[in-house]
Amino acid sequence: MRDTGEVLNITGESLIGFASVQATGATFHAFDPEQGIHLEPVFHSAGKMEINRACALAQAAFDLYRETAPQRRAHFLEAIAQNILDLGDALIERAMAETGLPKARLEGERGRTIGQLRLFAEGLREGSWIDARCDSALPARQPPRPDLRMRLIALGPVAVFGASNFPLAFSVAGGDTVSALAAGCPVIVKGHPAHPGTGELVGRAIQRAVAVCALPEGVFSLLAGIGNELGTDLIAHPAIQAVGFTGSGHGGLALMAVAAGRPQPIPVYAEMSSINPMFLLPHALNARAESLATGLVESLSMGVGQFCTSPGLVLAIEGEDLERFRGAVTHALSERAGATMLTPGIHGAYEHGMMRLAAHPQVDKLGNGVAVQGVCKGVPAMFATSAASFMQDTTLAKEVFGPVSLLISCADFEQMKQVAEHLEGQLTATLQMDEGDHEAARSLLPILERKAGRVLANGFPTGVEVSYAMVHGGPFPATSDGRSSSVGTMAIQRFMRPVCYQNIAQALLPAALQDGNPLDIWQRRDGQLTK
Ligand code: NAP
Repeated sequence: MRDTGEVLNITGESLIGFASVQATGATFHAFDPEQGIHLEPVFHSAGKMEINRACALAQAAFDLYRETAPQRRAHFLEAIAQNILDLGDALIERAMAETGLPKARLEGERGRTIGQLRLFAEGLREGSWIDARCDSALPARQPPRPDLRMRLIALGPVAVFGASNFPLAFSVAGGDTVSALAAGCPVIVKGHPAHPGTGELVGRAIQRAVAVCALPEGVFSLLAGIGNELGTDLIAHPAIQAVGFTGSGHGGLALMAVAAGRPQPIPVYAEMSSINPMFLLPHALNARAESLATGLVESLSMGVGQFCTSPGLVLAIEGEDLERFRGAVTHALSERAGATMLTPGIHGAYEHGMMRLAAHPQVDKLGNGVAVQGVCKGVPAMFATSAASFMQDTTLAKEVFGPVSLLISCADFEQMKQVAEHLEGQLTATLQMDEGDHEAARSLLPILERKAGRVLANGFPTGVEVSYAMVHGGPFPATSDGRSSSVGTMAIQRFMRPVCYQNIAQALLPAALQDGNPLDIWQRRDGQLTK
């Protein structure tokens, strides 16, 4: 057991409003997958009492918080960003110990988390997210038209479940939390048991920002805990009005079932599993089989393959160029060493998935990396099968979370299109193409638009930019609702709903809809966008 907790002031408590509470549920420790040891301190799982308290505070905070000026919420998000930065190396060191992820990767992820908070602050000030619309009254028309105005308002308290693979950017202060807070929704995070200390440090940074910005206490709570009951009890609570989730398919589906079975069903925005198909079109494969192979092996090994956008499926047409590609993949893999995966559970699931592929009668192994000593080491590998075998066996299209990919050899371009049609919903689809491939790409694009949230060319899908145009979503089962994105400014729309105000007096209208436009935001007046 190693004690980094005391030094970092991690207490193992839940943060409920401004209080730190030692709950009485099951106890657990964080686990260091690199060293194979448990870490201090002990964490105490929250239960129904803590859920009720956090939900009561969130509900009490909601009406005040949702009507805070956008400028004030922007300032709040910036204060969170600064508080996270002020945690300095302590945060990075604890996250390294809890995840086995390297320092540079976690520093990059912190930069992404800070950038995300600041981007939402910028978006809040700009104001188009309110989608303010004003249709003037037409009293002379028959029948007369009333004065109609519309804006989006916050949905209510949101429950957030972070993922194990991004302890900062998709966790306590990740995209779900930030977009919900930006929308005006109080947030209750169910902490991820794989990085509870990291979660607590970030949670305290948010808690301090709530206090310094003089916002209502219930704007943020973090419930530490392990076991499904805490999460299911939280989203069953009547105060919760929406859920943001990143993680496994079975976890997402379980939460969707609970949310749908409530007396008042609520939306669940779950980002779950994706195998991110990559199409090697013939001219590109001919021109650069070797560099595509090294690029692919680099991409699938990145972060030990623990990215929801890892390229888990590669399609190409049989022939000499594909043979060159296969040889180059085998060679590139042989130069890669295994590395530490996030948790014993994730490592075990990866080993199981590899064994399933290795034992499959229609699947061959193209190669693998070098095994290394250690408790949670995942070794990169690539397998291959035919398009016909792939389409016959649905288990081959299931995500194996880790550094592995499956190469599908197609008899011709028509069969490649058939495989594309056969795929389930994906977060991404990638085209490797040269100019001579444009015609093929033109006929694949309409299929890929239906299948994926992001279509990219001549790159690898692992990097997800946080920006205005990014879509990190896609049809089921990649996500529970393909109309949304969990990354980028569009994510705010998940936590809002429209309200129309008919013939409401100016003095009673929200500022966003008043004639003088006191917030100085974009308004759609009689169909025209104006400021
Ligand atoms: P996870 O097991 O789904 O857990 C995510 C969060 O949901 C945790 O807080 C977990 O806490 C909770 N949870 C899980 N199942 C639940 C249920 N049935 N009811 C209520 N709450 C539940 O995801 P993970 O820990 O990040 O990774 C595990 C697996 O998910 C990996 O092996 C991988 O296959 C997949 N994964 C996919 C992605 C992706 O983006 N596609 C990302 C990460 C992981 P409790 O366990 O304490 O309930």
